[in-house]
Amino acid sequence: MKAYVLHGIDDFRLEDVPEPKLKEGEVLVEVKAAGICGSDIPRVYKTGTYSYPLIPGHEFSGVVVKAQKGTDGRWKGQRVGIFPLIPCVKCGPCRKKQYEMCRSYSYLGSRRDGGFAQYAAVPEKNLILLPEQVTFEEGAMLEPMAVAVHAIRKSAFRPGDKVAVLGLGTIGLLLTAFLLEAGAGCVLAVGNKDFQRETALKLGLPRKAYCDSRSQDVSRWIGEQTDGQGADLFFECVGKNETVSLAVDCAAPAGRVCLVGNPYSEIKLEKPVYWKILRNQLTVRGTWNSSFHYGQSPWEPSLDFHGRERGEEGEEESKDDWHYVLDRLAGKRIAPAALITHRFPFTELEKGFRIMRDKQEEYGKIMGLM
Ligand SMILES: [Zn+2]
Ligand SMILES: [Zn+2]
Repeated sequence: MKAYVLHGIDDFRLEDVPEPKLKEGEVLVEVKAAGICGSDIPRVYKTGTYSYPLIPGHEFSGVVVKAQKGTDGRWKGQRVGIFPLIPCVKCGPCRKKQYEMCRSYSYLGSRRDGGFAQYAAVPEKNLILLPEQVTFEEGAMLEPMAVAVHAIRKSAFRPGDKVAVLGLGTIGLLLTAFLLEAGAGCVLAVGNKDFQRETALKLGLPRKAYCDSRSQDVSRWIGEQTDGQGADLFFECVGKNETVSLAVDCAAPAGRVCLVGNPYSEIKLEKPVYWKILRNQLTVRGTWNSSFHYGQSPWEPSLDFHGRERGEEGEEESKDDWHYVLDRLAGKRIAPAALITHRFPFTELEKGFRIMRDKQEEYGKIMGLM
């Protein structure tokens, strides 16, 4: 099969390699769509990964073409999305089903072979069934969507909140979309690229709720939009000193700051910023990855198609992030394809990597299609 293989830092080649051998409990997925994640760029060109050779790619979808013994034969022929984290199921967080905080996990596309290939070996427990209304492209965007949803659910968002989103990369844009879908009365989005503005508007953001940080004073603008109060809830999706400070500065008294952006460099809080956290009694919280009902078969009689306990109260809360996303995709309540700026046939996907590395042109989600 053809696959993009990372042999070392900045040594990334499209090659012919043998099809993956399946271990017990795994299925073979024929990849149909695979998105490039922002984290793939340093992984390929700068920092490398845990072992070589490795096939990157953790945002992908496809069709199950082979089911190994010990797996449910019904997966064969099914269209699937893939939860890329393989938890140890033994550590403290795992025992509480908080797999996103597993202390000893494996990961498709960074610790073992992932989806930039014609075929990928995937543990059955990591599969999620795609309803027929959900496209393969959408299936390949489940992971970043679930990350955005996880941040919203961890932040104790309430529909009446005045919410600010700073940084409109993939996660920031998806956060904006899910906040609007969840009925946020006031979402204020701050970006710095024309593509971000156009996409945010396409996703339903009112024109006056967009701020361009290249030409506007963000702090003043948020003040004006919130009657001088600041944002009840502030999502920081950049990960720089200035933007973390800005988030604290623009949060309302007793407000919440949710830190989403991975840090670019050292993050140091200056004294006035620290004072503001104290005096405004802010809640500052982190969010990481997404929740997934690991290993729950969609055919289990106690669960309906969406992974909910049948007939239980609080269905919405008990749902994991991935099924929360899938419900909204199936109901056409969210349209993530608006984020896709480039589509490449699989054999030309390396162009997409270079676009994201060189930053010579604007880009959103770059998708490889089989
Ligand atoms: Zn990712
Ligand atoms: Zn664990």
